[in-house]
Amino acid sequence: MAERENLQALASSDNAVGALEGLPAHLARAFQSTNHFDPLPPPGPGDWLAEHPEPGQTFEQFLRARPRRPDAPRKKLYLLPLGEFPRDRSPRLDLLREFAAAFFSLEVVLLPVLDLEAAAIDGRRNPHTGQFQLDARGVLRLLSRRFPDDAFALLGITMVDLYPDPTWNFVFGLASPADRVGVFSFARYDPGFYGETVSENASNLLLRRSCKVLAHEIGHMFGLKHCVFFNCLMNGSNHLAESDARPLHLCPVDLRKLQHGVGFDPEARYRRLLEFSRNVGFDEQSTWLEKRLRYLEGIPD
Ligand SMILES: [Zn+2]
Ligand SMILES: [Zn+2]
Repeated sequence: MAERENLQALASSDNAVGALEGLPAHLARAFQSTNHFDPLPPPGPGDWLAEHPEPGQTFEQFLRARPRRPDAPRKKLYLLPLGEFPRDRSPRLDLLREFAAAFFSLEVVLLPVLDLEAAAIDGRRNPHTGQFQLDARGVLRLLSRRFPDDAFALLGITMVDLYPDPTWNFVFGLASPADRVGVFSFARYDPGFYGETVSENASNLLLRRSCKVLAHEIGHMFGLKHCVFFNCLMNGSNHLAESDARPLHLCPVDLRKLQHGVGFDPEARYRRLLEFSRNVGFDEQSTWLEKRLRYLEGIPD
C-alpha cells in the first residue's frame, strides 16, 4: 500500500507545490518548479526510499496537517551545545547560528555550552567501539525541561556520539517534533571520526554537513516531511554518501511550506544565504543562489 501511494505521489510531483493562482507575483515566481530544481532520481539499493517507501507530502497535505507556526510569543530558535566543540574537529558554533538564522529567517539564539557532567545526562561506552555516547532520550527530556518561554524550537547539538536505546549501536539524531525539541550529533560527520585522512578542506566539509543536518532537522519542526519530489534538503537519507549528495536548498514544494510557516520574502532570504555561502566558501551553493536571484529579478539565464 505504502508503495502504491509512493508511486502516486511521484506521478503527481508536478502538482505537489499546489495552485499558485492568487498568490502575490513574487511568491508565485519563487514557488514555480524551474530547471533550477532536479527531479529526485529513483533510489539505488540501500538508499532511503528503497528501504522506507514514504509517500511524500504535498503542500496541500502539509496545510491539512495544520502545522504549528512561529507566533509572537514563540518565534525564536534556540541552539544548545552539549559538551565541548573542540576547535580542530567541530563546526564553528557562531557559523551554525548564522546559517540557521539565514535559512529560517528567524532569530536564532546560541545558548552557552552545557557541561555534560554538571547536567548529569546518562551515557554509556559503546559496547563495540568503547566510545562514549549520550542517551538521546535523556537529552530530549532535559531539553523539554529547559524549553525557553519564547522558543519555537530548542535543538541540542553535540560532538558526542548518541544512542537512542540500549539495543542500538548509534543514532545521528533524535527529535520529538510535537514538543519541538531535538538533538543531533555532528560526531560522525567529522572525516576524522572513522579514521579517514583529514584533508585540507575538512572543516568546510564538516560545516556543510552540519548546516545540512541542522536545517533538515529544524525543517521537521515546522512540519515538513521527507521530500520525494525533487533533489531537496528534505530528502530522507540512509547513509553519509546519500546525505552528501543532497543539496543545501529546499525544492519549491518545501520552500512554499517553510514560507507559509515563517512568512519571509524568498528573495531577501536567498540574499542572506548567498552572503553566508560566499563568506564560508560554499561555492556550489553560491552559484545556485546567484542563479535563483537572477531568475527572481527576471534576468534571463
Ligand atoms: Zn529527516
Ligand atoms: Zn523538497
